[in-house]
Amino acid sequence: AKQEGRNTYRFHTKALSIAANERLALETRLRHALIANEFILHYQPLIDARSNRIAGVEALVRWQPVDGEMVPPAKFIPITEETGLIVPLGEWILRTACNQARAWMDAGLPPLVMAVNLSVRQFQSENMVSMVRRVLADTGLPAEYLELELTETMFIERGEQSIATLKALKNLGVCLAIDDFGTGYSSLAYLKRFPIDKLKIDQSFVRDLAEDPNDREIAATIIAMARGLKLEVLAEGVETEQQLSFLQQHGCDYYQGYLFHRPAPPAQLDKWLRDKLL
Ligand code: C2E
Ligand code: CA
Ligand code: CA
Ligand code: CA
Repeated sequence: AKQEGRNTYRFHTKALSIAANERLALETRLRHALIANEFILHYQPLIDARSNRIAGVEALVRWQPVDGEMVPPAKFIPITEETGLIVPLGEWILRTACNQARAWMDAGLPPLVMAVNLSVRQFQSENMVSMVRRVLADTGLPAEYLELELTETMFIERGEQSIATLKALKNLGVCLAIDDFGTGYSSLAYLKRFPIDKLKIDQSFVRDLAEDPNDREIAATIIAMARGLKLEVLAEGVETEQQLSFLQQHGCDYYQGYLFHRPAPPAQLDKWLRDKLL
């Protein structure tokens, strides 16, 4: 039995080292991808419930290797987080998104909010606030049109530090949204202390609205709470008319989902925006 145990252990370390090698290879490819400009942003419309018009877009990153298929963010964002590559990649994402928003503004489109996701590592990096300030200055996008999407997990550690960072961001004039709201195991206490503008109801609560009374209760409660706290509220992952009508009845402010528009490359969205808004 002892012998077997040792072999199992050896097998295990071998499997681990293969995984480690693959990760290292992927990390190297990702570093190269940043230099070679292989990342692109897709944009997904955010719909204003009252006017039924597009209020803004969320920037969603993809990796398009020259010689391969498009890679979704779930496959590479975690690795860029662990390696710290998210810091330069995140800056590229912010700059590209702000440039796009500025270009749409210059094209004469009505002002659109540009929502950009921040990762934990990025949020905790030392020069984050000055990076955001610099990108806004360089691109000429007025701060009020930038919305930063944060997650609850960012606030679990370093609570006081988080408040200071959020306040510094607010002072720049940007909007702050909590992404994936309701999934983060964090206390609700931060809602009254942090300068938050918007909650984004996670799509896991929206998906089964038609079938699951618990999800209906959770979604309705989040909307009611947001209204009570004078926060805006958006529902993610809206795919069906049924989901939409439930959310409408409860007074949700914004919607995002395949029912309205899938995330699309800039050229496609550009055309859609001009058709709709000009
Ligand atoms: P997220 O921020 O919650 O983004 C929403 C995700 O839901 C996107 O997946 C979007 O394509 C998808 N989605 C939108 N509408 C629907 C719908 O009606 N039904 C369904 N089933 N899905 C819908 P995507 O683009 O694959 O991004 C996945 C996650 O990767 C994002 O979740 C976000 O956490 C992360 N991510 C994406 N782009 C960035 C980025 O630029 N920076 C960082 N740090 N993370 C990003
Ligand atoms: Ca998001
Ligand atoms: Ca989300
Ligand atoms: Ca998510």
